[in-house]
Amino acid sequence: MAIYPIRTFGDPVLRMETKTITDIDGALHTLAKDMMETMYAAPGVGLAANQIGIPRRIAVFDANDELGPRVMINPEIVETAGEVEMEEGCLSVPGYWWEITRPAFARVKALDLDGKEVEHAGDGLLGRVLQHEIDHLNGGLLLDVLPKRVRKKALKELRDEALGLS
Ligand SMILES: [Zn+2]
Repeated sequence: MAIYPIRTFGDPVLRMETKTITDIDGALHTLAKDMMETMYAAPGVGLAANQIGIPRRIAVFDANDELGPRVMINPEIVETAGEVEMEEGCLSVPGYWWEITRPAFARVKALDLDGKEVEHAGDGLLGRVLQHEIDHLNGGLLLDVLPKRVRKKALKELRDEALGLS
């Protein structure tokens, strides 16, 4: 078991295309466990592999529901519905929270660690986490979904912070 450092805004790996996983082997099981441990230590409710520098299509999450921690391999959004504004943050943009409007409900098709096709679907925190983690696997960051004016201000703040101006 290992806790990985989490890559933050500006690290190019967060913008890379992630590779579809074809072998669900022992190494992938270990990676999933390490990702889980890293997520809980952060603490966070979701983590995509590229956030720890591994550009492969796997993410873990725990939406504080009765289903507990889950792994999704090669996940794809197959349905979204509704719209809701919710406060959202990201382990790769630490210290920032924004009210972000997204679909309220998401349905995702993925593989589990046995290579079986599974579905994750829900609204509330689960719907939000599913969309957020899949954005990561597509090279996205929550900054991309901010309204234009908010994004401009956020990017300036992040740049100033990186330059030690704030
Ligand atoms: Zn994130």
